[in-house]
Amino acid sequence: MFLRNRRPGKCSICGREHVTISNNIGVCVNCLREKPEKALPIALKAHYTFRDKIGLPRKPPRSVNGKLCSYCGNMCKIPPNGIGFCGILSNVNGFLRFRTNSWEEAVGLYYLDPHPTNCVAEKVCPANTSRGYPEYTFSKGIEYGYYNLAVFYGGCNFDCLFCQNHDHKIMAVKTKPTMTVEELYRAAMNPRVTCICYFGGDPGPFAVHALYVSRKILKTAKEKGLIKRICWETNGYENPVIMKEMTRLSFESGGIVKIDFKAWTPEVYKALTGVDASKRVKENVKLVGKMFDERPEIPLLVVSILLVPGYVDVYEVSKIGEYVASINEKIPIVLLAFHPEHRLNDLPPTSRRHAEECLRELKRIGIKEVYIGNWWLLGNYY
Ligand SMILES: [Zn+2]
Repeated sequence: MFLRNRRPGKCSICGREHVTISNNIGVCVNCLREKPEKALPIALKAHYTFRDKIGLPRKPPRSVNGKLCSYCGNMCKIPPNGIGFCGILSNVNGFLRFRTNSWEEAVGLYYLDPHPTNCVAEKVCPANTSRGYPEYTFSKGIEYGYYNLAVFYGGCNFDCLFCQNHDHKIMAVKTKPTMTVEELYRAAMNPRVTCICYFGGDPGPFAVHALYVSRKILKTAKEKGLIKRICWETNGYENPVIMKEMTRLSFESGGIVKIDFKAWTPEVYKALTGVDASKRVKENVKLVGKMFDERPEIPLLVVSILLVPGYVDVYEVSKIGEYVASINEKIPIVLLAFHPEHRLNDLPPTSRRHAEECLRELKRIGIKEVYIGNWWLLGNYY
């Protein structure tokens, strides 16, 4: 059991003690909201120590004579022969390049995941439901015997303290192993593959690679009448031009864009992710959400929210809910239970009460479809 003997954490500003305060963050959510100028520098320390250790820049670089990378909201100005915040994009003799040194090669790995998968969108995905039948799935109910091609990209333009796969950052720094466009294309052409889902890390830094593969897949799929749904599991921090193209490919293929909305308050966002991402993510959620009614049979967008104890509380969730509802109440929201990981290993898992309160709140706001993803992690923790 995680918690019974756990000592409460303490906020170094207001002195409040509670099991849902992380000593690794060092401050409580109220201080982040009310005294951000004092609280944020404390919270950011946890990011710096980890990033220093593995050789990633503490902040998005702003080198005066650097190369601008506009792939995501970080807008890094990468110093000569240096790397961006993600560790993937680099400045090679004044040219923007992947660190693999080729646009056709990415850092990551891929595998076949049999349906039904434990995807964030499992409750609404054509692979598990009959949504989109017969255009986007050829089976009624679960696509038994078929697979999702899971494409895991190393590297991320966020630095989430709770990251479940933080090894991907080390993977990004070491630049191995690599996967080529051709390899992924061939894997996707397996007749048993019906969806291709890009995740990570985050697919953002390697989006150019993923888009390249996806266009190739969909070209063949169209010619041969195959079902190949293109899906994304992302933090939504992409350049809007890239986000639009990702969305278009999902839209055409019956796929889903899954955006993980980390928090509402900009300072809470930054404390958890290490970057000023709140504005860009909100814009991208709107960008994708506005297309929702154009393909009503399968949700084009699914928003997920990780319920970080003490930080992503009912207030944060309800503000995100109101925002999503203002775009379209039909956009499904999936609440995810937190599990102590990485630098937030001093927090308990999400409590059942916390999840249920958020669920009720989202329904009250008017969100039509709300789910709890990994409910089995929930317990009586706080
Ligand atoms: Zn406090």
